[in-house]
Amino acid sequence: MSFLANIWQKITGQKPSGASHQGKAQPGLTRDAGQTLWIFVECANCGEHIKVMLRKTSEIQRRDGVEREGGPGEFYVRKTIIGSKCYKPIEAEIEFDRRYQVIESHVINGRLIPRSEYKEQ
Ligand SMILES: [Zn+2]
Repeated sequence: MSFLANIWQKITGQKPSGASHQGKAQPGLTRDAGQTLWIFVECANCGEHIKVMLRKTSEIQRRDGVEREGGPGEFYVRKTIIGSKCYKPIEAEIEFDRRYQVIESHVINGRLIPRSEYKEQ
């Protein structure tokens, strides 16, 4: 670890992003469609598969300034997803690297699924 990275870690308690592998890219969880990014979620309550569109320009936030320390991602999103079967809200917090690959996710009442597992219902 470089001198500066070491200082950064002492100050923030975090490894600097870029040098860090705490969040490893998980390809296959998203579909990048230019201005939008699709994620695929399974409801833990009823098993419904839900396709979710995220707008890169508004919903997905860049981590800069004070946000930088909030997570390992270059970008992140917080979204409440509601399916059409049981209407139980799914709370997703997802961290992306600079290529919009998922590197970390926390999903309450559900989980992210690879787009290959997604079944239109
Ligand atoms: Zn459900």
